[in-house]
Amino acid sequence: MNPSARFAHQFDDAVIIPALGQQLNFGFEPDPIAQAVGTYFDAPAIDLDGYDRIVVCASGGKDSIACLLTLIEQGVDMSVIELWHHRVDGNEGSTLMDWSFIDSYMTQFAQAFNLPLYFSWLKGGIEGEMLKQDAYSQPHIVETPSGIITLDRDTTRNPPATRRRFPQQSANLATRWCSSAAKIDVGRRAITNQDRFLGSKTLFVTGERRAESSNRSKYNQLEPHAVDRRNGRLGRHVDAWRPVLHYSEQQVWELIERFRIEAPVPYKLGWGRSSCMTCIYNSPAIWATIRKYFPHRARPIAAYEDEFNCTISRQRINVIDLSATAEAFQITDMDALMQADKHEYTLPIFTPEDRKWQLPPGAFGSEGCGSV
Ligand code: SF4
Repeated sequence: MNPSARFAHQFDDAVIIPALGQQLNFGFEPDPIAQAVGTYFDAPAIDLDGYDRIVVCASGGKDSIACLLTLIEQGVDMSVIELWHHRVDGNEGSTLMDWSFIDSYMTQFAQAFNLPLYFSWLKGGIEGEMLKQDAYSQPHIVETPSGIITLDRDTTRNPPATRRRFPQQSANLATRWCSSAAKIDVGRRAITNQDRFLGSKTLFVTGERRAESSNRSKYNQLEPHAVDRRNGRLGRHVDAWRPVLHYSEQQVWELIERFRIEAPVPYKLGWGRSSCMTCIYNSPAIWATIRKYFPHRARPIAAYEDEFNCTISRQRINVIDLSATAEAFQITDMDALMQADKHEYTLPIFTPEDRKWQLPPGAFGSEGCGSV
């Protein structure tokens, strides 16, 4: 990396990224007159040919899959697409939050579409950040086309800090810090610390939908990404596009069916969303299901709640007690159940020709899970 680029990255890390939180005003009512240049409340189809690369943030859930399929249906040049997956548990051994097969699933999904896949993560994941005590956050680690880079924290700006409690349910990202610490910040620093984004045009694609929440109903569909600096010396042009923002859940599943993508495992088990398995937004029925079929995943969460004397639930009951207040799902898909606890993904990506594509039990479910 040349010295001026390194300085620019340090500037991004020290000044631009911390200021981003202020830009993320989630109570914002869209005002067409006040929209910044390049910002569109509705932009269901855009000119995809103008970009040097298209980054698709791929969680492994239906909406990020629908993003890729929408790009394909709009005739994208596949050679400019790359998939990014943020590992919420990091890569250092934590198994607190995520589905165990997700790395393998993402790898096979990318191979099925012949696309490059880059993992990135907060070292130690959400668990490591949660256990922070009078310390700085761990570095971000990012896979790039030229190898893995480790992005240390700037320890000159803020004193060490302590968390030792679960993220709390809130639209405020400082309170619900898991999304920002394990995903949003990782993605931003992955952009601001790679020279290949300088002097070029990037489309950054994410899978939010307006129908998911009143919060998301106000999102713009196309806008300059928070780390965009197209007018600066670096010429880093980054547009954020949400191609499925206007889709209903029905449209998402119809799209997935058209491409015969097998429903991801969490939906086969009854989850309405595929995010962290032990998401802080899980409903009592989801916790009951975890306790019934995956008790080894519920116990560590409850143990931390006891240790911190602070529960995920606002009612101050831990996830084991919360799970006792609801009925677990009756899981009938034994293949999916077996898969859920394995690291290696062994189910198909595409529904085989001799089988009918099936809408999973979790589709159109109302049980809460996943951030909104
Ligand atoms: S899926 Fe849930 S637990 Fe995971 S990062 Fe999002 S809000 Fe946090």
